[in-house]
Amino acid sequence: MDQTVRTVVIVGGGQAGARTAKSLRALGYDGALTLIGAEKHPPYERPDLSKACLIDADAQPPSVVDTAFCAEQRIVLITGRRACAIDRRQACIHLDDGSQHPYDRLVLATGCKPRQLSLTGLDSRRVFYLRTLDDAQALRPRLQAGSSIVIVGGGFIGLEVAAGAQALGCQVSVLEAAPVLLPRLGSTAASDRVLDHHRRTGIDIRLDTRIAYADGERLVLSTGEAIKADTIVAGIGVMPDTTLAEAAGLAIDDGILTDEFGETSDGSILAAGDVTRHFNPLLQRHLRLESWQNANLQPETVARTILGERVPYAEMPWLWSDQGDLNLQAAGAPAQVDMTVQRGGDDTGVSIFQFAHGALVGGITINRNKDMPLIRRLLRQAQPIDDPESLADDSRPLRAFLRTGASS
Ligand SMILES: Cc1cc2nc3c(=O)[nH]c(=O)nc-3n(C[C@H](O)[C@H](O)[C@H](O)COP(=O)(O)OP(=O)(O)OC[C@H]3O[C@@H](n4cnc5c(N)ncnc54)[C@H](O)[C@@H]3O)c2cc1C
Repeated sequence: MDQTVRTVVIVGGGQAGARTAKSLRALGYDGALTLIGAEKHPPYERPDLSKACLIDADAQPPSVVDTAFCAEQRIVLITGRRACAIDRRQACIHLDDGSQHPYDRLVLATGCKPRQLSLTGLDSRRVFYLRTLDDAQALRPRLQAGSSIVIVGGGFIGLEVAAGAQALGCQVSVLEAAPVLLPRLGSTAASDRVLDHHRRTGIDIRLDTRIAYADGERLVLSTGEAIKADTIVAGIGVMPDTTLAEAAGLAIDDGILTDEFGETSDGSILAAGDVTRHFNPLLQRHLRLESWQNANLQPETVARTILGERVPYAEMPWLWSDQGDLNLQAAGAPAQVDMTVQRGGDDTGVSIFQFAHGALVGGITINRNKDMPLIRRLLRQAQPIDDPESLADDSRPLRAFLRTGASS
């Protein structure tokens, strides 16, 4: 263990920041540890915000660390305070209450912030975003049966909110600028299936559609039609919150650039979670992920690096989305797909295998989560799959496609 590190400060009280603090203590770090979060709540996990917490007003998201745990583990948890500057020469962080916190190692886990909707005539009181517990608590009372909810953006968050609002009896419309839902999945087959599912539940989904302008409670669309919107939910993506890192002169490229050990361009500053564009040794490239898995696992690597170990973060990306009774999971990070194979059908859900130049680069399951563990293993083994078309044969177990020695 690196004995020169006696003071660690973590900025960002989300899942990644809190997991870093937890990992440091679990790995035996005994020095001073401070976790600073701008939200007033102790760290919690976000996925339920667009699922259970919208349907059930009493549901609370799972905690990552609570105040009792922090007290017991000697983690100084500062909530409701924003770090506003990093003084790299003095190795010190400044908070918005004027306090200063010196560090031997600083971890930036500042996450992402939602892209803002900008529209002529928009009444901002009708516009809601969904990133934080406070956002979810503000949105929940708007989802009254019969009220018209317009969701801008047919991505994961937009569709999860749409499914929840539909279940609560709202009149739901989803406006997506692209010709497909979930364009980042890179699978028209998956997008079409998701579209079909939501349309069958009665959600009005309009593709290739933007809002031209707002006129009172009406939104005039690029198609010329006008629709009523009591509430607008903007799910148009997020941006990494690199404000602090940028001002401090760290290397940034749509996220804080880190290597596979979580180190930034300054050796005493590390970063974890959604805010990072990190090097993935399995994929041999940098990537930025917005997923629970990354926020959960990358912090352990960062903690190990702080303690003087060199264990790279090498996970195959994976995420899930629950949209009412539709469960979607996606693994891999396909930059390009030139062939897909489908397995399953209407009754059994579907798995979609994505190939590029003959290699399996991604897999998607829709209401067929039983295939996902094996898809993830197939992706990890990074070996060509013999006769990929036969993945479509549901009678042939997926296990049979694993290379010998990789099947246990
Ligand atoms: C509604 C919702 C649903 C989701 N559902 C899923 C899902 O189903 N499956 C999945 O895989 N992933 C899901 N995700 C993604 C997952 O929750 C995120 O990837 C994860 O929360 C990222 O954690 P993080 O700690 O890196 O960043 P964040 O969660 O963004 O946390 C960063 C924290 O840092 C704080 N902060 C920023 N700047 C400062 C500063 N200067 N000083 C102090 N504090 C600061 C912020 O206030 C924030 O609390 C969902 C996300 C959302 C929002």
